[in-house]
Amino acid sequence: MRNETARHDITVVGGGLAGVCAAIAAARLGRTVALINNRPVLGGNSSSEVRVWVCGATGHGKNHHAREGGIMGELLVENQFRNPDGNPYYWDTVVLDAVRAEPNLTLYLNTDVREVEAEGPDDMRRITAVTGWTMGSERRIRFESKVFLDCTGDGLIGHLAGAHHRIGREAHAEYGEPWAPGAADDITLGSTLLFYTKDAGRPVKYVPPNFAKDISKTSIPQRRIIKAGDNGCAYWWIEFGGELDTVHDNEEIRDELWAVIYGIWDHIKNSGGFDAETMTLEWVGSVPGKREYRRFLGDYVLHQGDILGQSEFADRVAFGGWSIDLHPPQGVYAAEDGAKQRYTDGIYHIPYRSLYSVNTSNLLFAGRNISASHVAFGSTRVMATCATIGQAAGTAAALCAEQGLTPRALDVPSLQRTLLREDASVIGLTCDDSADLAPRARVTASSTLACIAVETPDEPWQLTADAGIVLPVDPQLTGIELLLDAEHDTEVVIELYDPVLGQNYVPRRLVATATVPVPAGSHQWVKTGLEWSPATPRNAFVLVRANEALALHTADRPTPGVLCFTRIPLRPQDEAPQPLREWTDAGLLRRTFCLRTGETSAFAPTRAVDGYLRPYAGPHQWVSEPSVSGAWLELAWPEPVTLHRIEVIADDDVNEDLINLHHHRTPFDTLPTLLRDYRIEARGPDGSWHTLSRTKDNRRRRTSHPLAEEVTTDALRVVVEATNGAASAHIVAVRAYAQE
Ligand SMILES: Cc1cc2nc3c(=O)[nH]c(=O)nc-3n(C[C@H](O)[C@H](O)[C@H](O)COP(=O)(O)OP(=O)(O)OC[C@H]3O[C@@H](n4cnc5c(N)ncnc54)[C@H](O)[C@@H]3O)c2cc1C
Repeated sequence: MRNETARHDITVVGGGLAGVCAAIAAARLGRTVALINNRPVLGGNSSSEVRVWVCGATGHGKNHHAREGGIMGELLVENQFRNPDGNPYYWDTVVLDAVRAEPNLTLYLNTDVREVEAEGPDDMRRITAVTGWTMGSERRIRFESKVFLDCTGDGLIGHLAGAHHRIGREAHAEYGEPWAPGAADDITLGSTLLFYTKDAGRPVKYVPPNFAKDISKTSIPQRRIIKAGDNGCAYWWIEFGGELDTVHDNEEIRDELWAVIYGIWDHIKNSGGFDAETMTLEWVGSVPGKREYRRFLGDYVLHQGDILGQSEFADRVAFGGWSIDLHPPQGVYAAEDGAKQRYTDGIYHIPYRSLYSVNTSNLLFAGRNISASHVAFGSTRVMATCATIGQAAGTAAALCAEQGLTPRALDVPSLQRTLLREDASVIGLTCDDSADLAPRARVTASSTLACIAVETPDEPWQLTADAGIVLPVDPQLTGIELLLDAEHDTEVVIELYDPVLGQNYVPRRLVATATVPVPAGSHQWVKTGLEWSPATPRNAFVLVRANEALALHTADRPTPGVLCFTRIPLRPQDEAPQPLREWTDAGLLRRTFCLRTGETSAFAPTRAVDGYLRPYAGPHQWVSEPSVSGAWLELAWPEPVTLHRIEVIADDDVNEDLINLHHHRTPFDTLPTLLRDYRIEARGPDGSWHTLSRTKDNRRRRTSHPLAEEVTTDALRVVVEATNGAASAHIVAVRAYAQE
């Protein structure tokens, strides 16, 4: 056995996606980081040991332009390239590779932290060290740091340090939450084990173990959906322990979950009700996936009203968008549905004050243990959201360690600036980076998509339900025409709405209405006459009312800046209003209703230097006309500038809902809108262009191009040679740095 001491600027305990993203973020900012995980595999509940699929703000595609950016975005895009079929082991390696790519980060796997040294009175605790035991290596390691992050999910580190926290549900009166119970209690969400099956191609018998539960004596077959071919997270509802203590009763909970799994499999194999003769169990989990335990108290407690009201916190540093998703305490044995879910109208903000301890001065946290009420946690708990929180907390830790500050004393605007500079997403804020010379340049392009015109139809779309079209309005919307078929003389009713919030894609404030006659006939361009000139650029939601005599037309291709929806009724159990559930792109994803509009500046070259890194009240990127090869974006300065590094942020289409495991398969490995081949050129004194950097087979969103030698020039060009499939060149941002 060995005793060791490890000194790092920052110690991150817990290698779930929150801890991984926190550690990577801090390491990229130049701090030395220890990332400690008590299991051999990173990724926490997303790892191949548990196999929960990574969900986030898209809410399985309900929210739009909502996929996470930053480090979580990088992981999802890389996983899509390497692992489009969602193999859990391949996902493990994507996460491990990302951690190993950071030279400032030291990874301690299999290291269980059980001791914490902390000092100070209850209202001013400070952690000096944590100690872990590396299983299999007999190493007892004491980790000393300036700043600590508890990303353990269960919150053991903060608990041992004396950080204030709570377990269970708050009373309704505490935060005025409609979904909170009348009295506070210690109920949590339960834990789950998952299993995978496979078809052996020949009959396989199944003899259940003695401990398997006879589920025919429970409500499970009546209350839950059981299908022979389902795998993994499709069985999220095998949940137990909400009325127990999910940590101290973990062993008992695991045994119950195993009994249920083997009982369900017995039911599938031997009840005669399923076509499963050749099926066998391929994998059964043994590490219970824990949903909930301690939630720390920060300077702010995020609650239900913040999520449903989309509170615009000045200190916002991350975002979420999953529904508030709570489960009955009895879990798998509950008579009611396995989950109750409520979506707000779009993605919501998470404040920095929920990420550091109210009473432990050098403790930040990220993941499912942040300062949120039980109800708000019901939404923030999904892993891509935990990961963006992790990047924010890790970035804050890096700035604190560098500046010798406590998390509470940190300057929040500088944290937000750093996050945006690192391409993390803080919704509605622009990257105000004084070192970046690009915003001072005059920006021009070889061509710009100036008109939205989808004129070649593939299929008619019967208007049996209301349809919706989101269009950028910059600076005005004029001349909207729709391609319509009419069975007989009729009229089309169109309403134009302002979604009000930049991140929302549902109709909220009615701006104008038009009723236009449509004579019988097919493929008729109908002028709507709708116009709108808002004070600032934004999106319009154009609602086309259902009319059984009418059909729109769809084209089988996506159109930059445009989203198309159809309206479905809420289910009886859904709380109303929930427009996000009503307006779905089912059947319309990557397709566009045929339409024409007047000119738009939404894709102007200047959008590539406007500081926005993702769609917000408009697309915020330069898009060329549909002809890629040789398309260029140029930055020209009035006086020559000396450059050391150039950064290109390509469009990774944050509307595409990527997932790490097998929930759905996205049909391409690389996002088509990403630049594939491009070069960066600088203009010489004689006006000729010289290549500074050439990129081939790119599949990333953000690429840094350090220059081998500094370059003095009055103009730069990014010349696009090929995209990964998109018809136009898309560039979200170009950044140009002098010595940093
Ligand atoms: C069955 C189930 C279904 C779910 N469904 C979804 C879903 O569909 N999609 C989704 O995104 N989310 C889902 N969730 C929620 C989500 O998995 C969690 O909220 C999320 O994993 C929390 O991330 P985290 O990084 O905070 O913690 P975790 O993923 O729990 O990671 C914590 C890590 O810290 C390590 N650790 C703990 N204690 C110590 C210690 N003392 N020393 C060292 N290391 C330690 C753990 O081993 C683990 O690796 C589900 C959860 C469960 C259990």
